Amino acid sequence: MKLLIMGPPGAGKGTQAKILAHKFNLVHLSTGDILRKEIDRNSEVGLKAQTYMNAGNLVPDEVLLEMMNSTLTELKDEGVILDGFPRTIPQADGLSKIFQSLNQDIDAIINIEVDKDVLIRRLVERAKNSGRADDTEEVIKNRQNVYLELTAPLIEFYHGNIINVDGDGSIDKVTERILKRIP
Ligand code: ADP
Repeated sequence: MKLLIMGPPGAGKGTQAKILAHKFNLVHLSTGDILRKEIDRNSEVGLKAQTYMNAGNLVPDEVLLEMMNSTLTELKDEGVILDGFPRTIPQADGLSKIFQSLNQDIDAIINIEVDKDVLIRRLVERAKNSGRADDTEEVIKNRQNVYLELTAPLIEFYHGNIINVDGDGSIDKVTERILKRIP
């Protein structure tokens, strides 16, 4: 099974992705987590990504596409849940090509919807102990704007194949809503 989970920063997609990965025995691929690990390792990808991430901007598409192409090819025969990728239209185009070349398809696309005010409140709360360099108020605002400009258009791109889920409420409640809708 290949699942894709989307939503604005703070929507809880990482949390839900972990739960779904566990439940369906999928490899959880969070591009944010992968990039943070690359930064910690001082790898070539990490060095390329760091300045963009710290400012709350997107890492260039080519870097993500190359990274995800090799990861998805390696995990060809495994179930995966993609969390944080694709984040732009060119990434979504690239992802279709990757899956095409592997003779695979996306089984479901989950989009978690949450009001902007709730999102900011959650992120400011999380920032208190996340230790993430991109969790300051200014950078959080930039991440929201980047989402609206570059990532939200994916909802239209995947129109018709997307499962919209209300992300307001407890973690369990949101999981329950997702599970009801997965084919
Ligand atoms: P959040 O969704 O809470 O903003 P993530 O951990 O998913 O956090 O991502 C953190 C940062 O990692 C992003 O702001 C961006 O700089 C980088 N990043 C993650 N995924 C991608 C992607 N698909 N394309 C470009 N940059 C990405």
